Parts: sequence; C-alpha cells; structure tokens
Amino acid sequence: MTDTVTAPAGDLFSKFDDIIQTRETLLASGVEDPYNLVMEKVLSPTRAICNGRDTILLGTYNYMGMTFDPDVLEAGKQALADYGSGTTGSRVLNGTFQGHKECEDALREFYGMDHAMVFSTGYQANLGIISTIAGKGDYVILDIDSHASIYDGCAMGNAEIVPFRHNNVEALEKRLRRIPEGAGKLVILEGVYSMMGDVAPLKEMVAVSKKYGAMVLVDEAHSMGFIGENGRGVAEEQGVMDDCDFIIGTFSKSVGTVGGFCVSNHPKFDIMRLVCRPYVFTASLPPSVVATSATSIRKLMHGSNKRAHLWENSKTLHKGLRDLGFDIGTPEAQSAIIAVIMPDLQQGAMMWEALLKEGLYVNLARPPATPAGMTLLRCSLCAEHSAEEVQTILQMFERAGKAVGIIS
Ligand code: PMP
Repeated sequence: MTDTVTAPAGDLFSKFDDIIQTRETLLASGVEDPYNLVMEKVLSPTRAICNGRDTILLGTYNYMGMTFDPDVLEAGKQALADYGSGTTGSRVLNGTFQGHKECEDALREFYGMDHAMVFSTGYQANLGIISTIAGKGDYVILDIDSHASIYDGCAMGNAEIVPFRHNNVEALEKRLRRIPEGAGKLVILEGVYSMMGDVAPLKEMVAVSKKYGAMVLVDEAHSMGFIGENGRGVAEEQGVMDDCDFIIGTFSKSVGTVGGFCVSNHPKFDIMRLVCRPYVFTASLPPSVVATSATSIRKLMHGSNKRAHLWENSKTLHKGLRDLGFDIGTPEAQSAIIAVIMPDLQQGAMMWEALLKEGLYVNLARPPATPAGMTLLRCSLCAEHSAEEVQTILQMFERAGKAVGIIS
C-alpha cells in the first residue's frame, strides 16, 4: 500500500501502485529506462543516433525498410504541397481527399479484394471492425494471445468472448462446438503473433471455423509485405485468402507510415463507412500519410527480392543466437520477429542496456504484452539490414550476453 500522503483515499491512481513500484525498483537498480529511449536522429531504416551514438535498430516494425524510400518520400512531399498538412475532418464529412481513395485502391489491388477501408491506425481498424460486426448476443472466438486492440474491440462491441489456447486447432474446434446453434460467430486469428514471432496454422483453423459456420477475421499486421508470394500475409502463404472474410492490417509496420485498414469481399462491406464508430467519429489521415502509404503499398507488390533477403536475415539471426546459447521463442525462424527469452525482468533490462551500450537497440517486452509472464528481448529484422550487419548484431549479443551472464 502507498501511504496516505501521496495517495489519499479515493485516489483513482492507486490502482497503478503495483506497476509504479515495479518500475521504481527496476530504475533504482541503476539500469537505463527501457521505455524512455529517444532517437535523436534517424539515419536510415536500420540506424539511428541514440544517446549520442550510432545505433543499429533491431527493434522496429520497419520490416521492409520503406521509411526512407525515395519514391515514398517524394509522394509525401508532393501531397503536402498539393493538399496541405491535414484534413481536419472525418472520412464521412470533409475528410475524404483523392489520396484516401487512391490508398484504398492500392490496398484493393494489393490484396485482390473488392473492398478496402482505411482507418487512422491499425488499433482503430480492429476496434472498429470487431465492435461493429460482433455485438451483444454474438460470439467472438479468439486466440488467447490476441493483440490488445482485438480484445478492446470485443469489449467495445459487448460480444461474448470465447478465448482458446494459443495456436491450438483442437481447442478452437472444442469452443466452436459448444456455441449455441444459430448464434453469430466471429473467429479472430493473427497471421504472425508479435511477441514470439510464431505463425498461426491458418489453413486448419480457417477450415474448422468454416465447418462451424463462423466468419473469420485475420490480423496480418506482422506479415503484410513480407510473408506470402505477393506479401499478402500468412493467409496467402497457406492458401486461405478466399475463406477469410476480413483481413486487418496496419501501415505502421512493413508499409512504414501510420494507419490501419480492413479488406473484404463481403458484398455489404461498404455499410461499415456509416456504422463503424472508430471510422466515423475521428479525423482521417493527413494527405501526406495516405500518399506515402499508397506509394509504399504499390512498391511492396514488387518486393520479392527484399522479401528473400529478409528471410535470409531472419534465419541467420535465429541460428546464430541459438548457437550462442540463447533461448529463442520459436524452434526456427517463422517471421521477421525473433524473440529471445530472458530469465526475468531484471536480467532482461540489464541485457537490454548492455546491448544499447554496444550500439544495438531491441525491444524489451514484458507482461501484460507478453504471454506466460515472460520477459523477452524482441528482435525484429529489416530487409535493409545487410548480411554484415546481422553478423555484427550477433557479435554484440555474444559480448552482452557473456557480460550479463545469460550465456557462458
Ligand atoms: N494488430 C497487431 C497484431 C499489432 O501488433 C498492432 C501493433 N503493434 C496493431 C494491430 C495495431 O497497429 P497500429 O500500430 O497501426 O495501431
């Protein structure tokens, strides 16, 4: 309990006391705050100046390295000049500019789907689509490790939430079997799970969902642009695109901007533009953002060389870290995310800091974001990391891991 001088009775902040205490204990040990890093200058998709030092970035979602693409930057500058800095309105009023339509056209082409709807973030895309289609009396059957935006969408829609064991097809089927006949059912899956970097068995899961008459929504936030022959994601890779009713994605990862979207072939999909509150009651993305996003999405359609290089990077890092003796979240590289499991938060924070001092930035991830109470050093690779940089990264891990005592 915090004393009454700092937290009088009725202080609505007292619910945060545990997390404040954990944070204070961690910082009192002298480690740098892992959640307060400032990038003083960003030099490229893979390098930034942090604490005055040239640092390799291995903890961004910039999988395809599009943030400094010259065509993308040029499109943004042109849109700023032609349309100004912002729309100052909702998509359904004054906030739909030519660029928003072009961005949705690019998405429809990228996925080969009939409808595309752009939201201001991926978080809002999940919040909006899920809460609007699954309401009171409907059932949402979802992987227990689903992203916060999925859970928040379920809570907002007030549907019945039925979680099942992570990536377990039998558990999904068991849940589906128990749902009352005739009830509305939405199964929500992710292509790649962002904490461990593991891929869902979508082929089996989508088949089971369809067998029980459920609609299927797949969040491809971490697979768009990289996984699948055309970078459409895990649903493409596993041949189930046609059975996915809704694909959700974000521009904040491979696309390299900000924004979210949903694509669908549902014939009534367009009504979402009038009934989806997180679409209607917020301002639309600035013209420069939809212009950079559309340009990036179109370039990602032709990104197969970059995809191949990113796979190489991911496999090399996975094998190298495992050979050094680190505990990795997946038995092999399944995506661009390699999760290194730390013994606890304290050692995880020490390792994070040791890597930063080496000149390497990774994500320190901890509960509630991580499954099973784990502390992870999440490494996410970029198609712009050179093969030499990956070797440098491995040397940094070796030195830091030995210094902190995580490997011998
Ligand atoms: N879905 C998943 C699986 C995510 O990991 C994220 C962001 N990390 C989002 C949705 C939200 O995306 P955005 O950053 O565009 O809000």
